[in-house]
Amino acid sequence: MFNAVHTNDLIIYKSSLLNSRNGIYHGFGARVGGVSNSPYNTLNLGLSIGDIPENVHKNRELFFQALKSDPQQFAQGVQVHGNTIQIVDHPGTFESTDALLTIRKNIPLIIKTADCAPVILFEPEQEVIAAVHAGWRSVVKGILENTIRIMVENFDCEPEIIKCAIGPSIRSCCYEVKSDVSSRFPDDVILWKNNKSYLDIPKAIQLRLIDQGIQIENIDDSQLCTACNEKLFFSHRRDKGKTGRMMTAVYLT
Ligand SMILES: [Zn+2]
Repeated sequence: MFNAVHTNDLIIYKSSLLNSRNGIYHGFGARVGGVSNSPYNTLNLGLSIGDIPENVHKNRELFFQALKSDPQQFAQGVQVHGNTIQIVDHPGTFESTDALLTIRKNIPLIIKTADCAPVILFEPEQEVIAAVHAGWRSVVKGILENTIRIMVENFDCEPEIIKCAIGPSIRSCCYEVKSDVSSRFPDDVILWKNNKSYLDIPKAIQLRLIDQGIQIENIDDSQLCTACNEKLFFSHRRDKGKTGRMMTAVYLT
């Protein structure tokens, strides 16, 4: 279950599945409470997409303050809709990376989204966290399987106890896709309305996690659609590319 936590003027979504554990701090950001102007209003956290850099830096300060973390000390990937996972032992920016993993404390792993699903994974025994940028391309290319394989093979994680939280993303209510996309997914994650097909990406993620041995009760889906909720979320699809980016952050404490 996801809860909206109001911190100053920001809204941070938290999964009760991750909140209930010690040793981890996390949040899925929304668009409210920042200083940017339209179409990046207001809490745009993405640089190099047309917003004024000073505003983005101010927004990042506000976001990391809400996450009780240092705005300079995070790890992020240059997201390319691929299937590469980076094992992180220091803050920084990592080329061509859509998933990050760490066992180090106090290094926030950051995912930037505006429709793609941010996914957090946590193995409480080995104290391993991972954050995944799960758009349809990365999901099809096996980024979730790659992440879980590294957790198991390199860090002795048990899939049965891994907790997963799937954050706000575009959902089947809004995510119309053509056959070039729908044909890559199983029938039970494609919805048909008026001869148009819609992709349920959180469900596709869920099925792949279960295939890897994750227990269904250890998967938390936000149920939040970025495209439906214009006041709360940026949506690349709804805003035709002219929009901001939200952040998801997770770190070990
Ligand atoms: Zn929707």
